[in-house]
Amino acid sequence: MQASYLSFWEYETFLKNIDLTIIGSGIVGLTSAYLYKQKFPEKRVVVLESGVLPHGATTRNAGFACFGSISEILDDLKETDEESCFKLVKERHDGLLALLDLHGKSSIGYVQSGGFEIFFDNDEALFEECFSKMDYINKALKKYAGFDTNVFECIDLPKHWRIKAYPKIFFNPFEGQIHSGMLMQHLLKLCNKSGILILNGIKATTIEVNNNHVTIEANPFDLKTSFVLVCNNGFASELLPELQVIPARGQVLVTSPIRDLNWEGTFHHYKGYDYFRNIGDRILIGGGRHIDLKNEYTSTMEITPVITDYLISVLKNHLIPEKEFTIEYSWAGIMGKGQSKQPIIKKIDDRVGVAVRMGGMGVAIGTNVARQAVELFTSQ
Ligand SMILES: Cc1cc2nc3c(=O)[nH]c(=O)nc-3n(C[C@H](O)[C@H](O)[C@H](O)COP(=O)(O)OP(=O)(O)OC[C@H]3O[C@@H](n4cnc5c(N)ncnc54)[C@H](O)[C@@H]3O)c2cc1C
Repeated sequence: MQASYLSFWEYETFLKNIDLTIIGSGIVGLTSAYLYKQKFPEKRVVVLESGVLPHGATTRNAGFACFGSISEILDDLKETDEESCFKLVKERHDGLLALLDLHGKSSIGYVQSGGFEIFFDNDEALFEECFSKMDYINKALKKYAGFDTNVFECIDLPKHWRIKAYPKIFFNPFEGQIHSGMLMQHLLKLCNKSGILILNGIKATTIEVNNNHVTIEANPFDLKTSFVLVCNNGFASELLPELQVIPARGQVLVTSPIRDLNWEGTFHHYKGYDYFRNIGDRILIGGGRHIDLKNEYTSTMEITPVITDYLISVLKNHLIPEKEFTIEYSWAGIMGKGQSKQPIIKKIDDRVGVAVRMGGMGVAIGTNVARQAVELFTSQ
């Protein structure tokens, strides 16, 4: 007889009578677990996470609390109609308000630093296009997203920043920065306080629905649960191939402290593909996916010379051309993308729900996506 991985005691305590199992402990999984437990305190909720720490996008992102730059919105308008496009922007803005409402500012390191869109000298045509559409976008944001004031304003690139770029930029006062590690720690604290069991280092491989329960086959042990919510975002199609979720990698670098770094905020360049911000006196820069788009549709968590060389060239040629720096941190994270920028929130069976495909905006939409995901299970 083979020894079982878990003992009788472990099954009787940790794994007995689980009501809801959530797969994935990013912002969506943990927020869903917390909100569900708030609604149903008597239910047993377990979260399965394959990483030793959460290992998808939430702890590996750039920490922008943003809802879209002008060139990104214009790019989206090429793929979708006006109403859907601006409603999505509204969902992101509403989501940020929900995030702040749930956590407060200080527990997630939120600073409303403002957001900027910059252009390099060879982006002049893109700047002109954005400038010509700025009033239209401001009006549409009032109409569809409920802003009572202009969101975007065109200003001069401040000379004292010493950024080498096109002399005009766009400013959005509603954007901010968060500390992604603090957000995750706060979510874990809320979940722990509510009595939610979070199991790290366990990877779900198959979901099998039976008459009155669901079996989750996982490594290193399987478990039974009444209901399942899949929140593994960029990895969703590994578990449920029928879902239209494409893994998309984002690479990020953080510099050494920069002497006299005299700007702060969140910055966007080229349709949202490049982004950078300060973290204290360091610069975090990420993106560059458009440089090697085909190879960046992957769930492999590696950084590549093509992208890192590009990001370093942006630092050297544009952001801090006169400064000495080294790269002290570099990592990759995996997003879940698809043909639509809308997340997938639905039941695929009476007992199985999914809340995946957050794209590059999970900080913004994650909290409200979790609210909707919990609603899938309220009538059970
Ligand atoms: C480099 C980068 C920069 C970004 N910058 C921003 C930004 O500035 N602002 C913004 O709003 N958004 C940003 N995003 C997007 C945002 O981080 C994501 O949309 C969001 O974090 C997704 O949250 P999630 O909970 O859906 O998924 P995730 O945070 O990816 O969580 C999914 C979890 O599931 C786990 N998992 C996967 N498969 C399994 C399995 N089979 N079994 C058990 N566990 C599993 C993973 O380890 C992971 O921890 C960025 C993303 C990246 C990669």
